[in-house]
Amino acid sequence: MTDSNASQDYAKSCIEILASKGFKRTKTREYIANVISGFEKPFGPKDVHDLVSKKSNVDFATVYRNFQIFSDCDLLHPVGSHGKFVACSKLHCDDHAVHTIFRCKKCDMTQELVEVKKPTANHSEGPQAFKVESSVTEVTGICAACAASS
Ligand SMILES: [Zn+2]
Ligand SMILES: [Zn+2]
Repeated sequence: MTDSNASQDYAKSCIEILASKGFKRTKTREYIANVISGFEKPFGPKDVHDLVSKKSNVDFATVYRNFQIFSDCDLLHPVGSHGKFVACSKLHCDDHAVHTIFRCKKCDMTQELVEVKKPTANHSEGPQAFKVESSVTEVTGICAACAASS
C-alpha cells in the first residue's frame, strides 16, 4: 500500500477500530496509523518513531505505548523473534478473527490471509468455555522469488 489514498483509508479504519475498543482519537495515533501501512518490510516501534518524529515532536515512550495498543487491538502483528511487526492487511474483514501471516525467512516478504472461521476450544483437549477473540499465526518459509534465485 504505497498510494496515499489507500494509506488514508487504512489510517481511518485503524482509528475507527481503536475507537470501537475505547481508545480515543489522538494526533499520535493518527500519525502512527498513517505510517504503518507504508512499510515494505517488518518494522519496530523505533522505525515508526523515526517517521512520526518528522511530523511531530512526540517522544519515543509515547509512540511505544501506542504501538502496544495497536498491537493489542490486532492492528499490528508480531513476526519473527526480533520485536518486528507487520500492519494487519485485513482490517475490513467482517470477522476480524483469524490472521495467518506468511513470511519469507530470506527476504522478509510478508503476506496475510484471513480465514473467517475462528478456532474453537470447545473440544476435549481445549480449555472449556474459552471465548476466542482472535488468533494470529505466523507461517515461515521461502517465497517463490527467493526459491528461484537460490
Ligand atoms: Zn491481521
Ligand atoms: Zn523471499
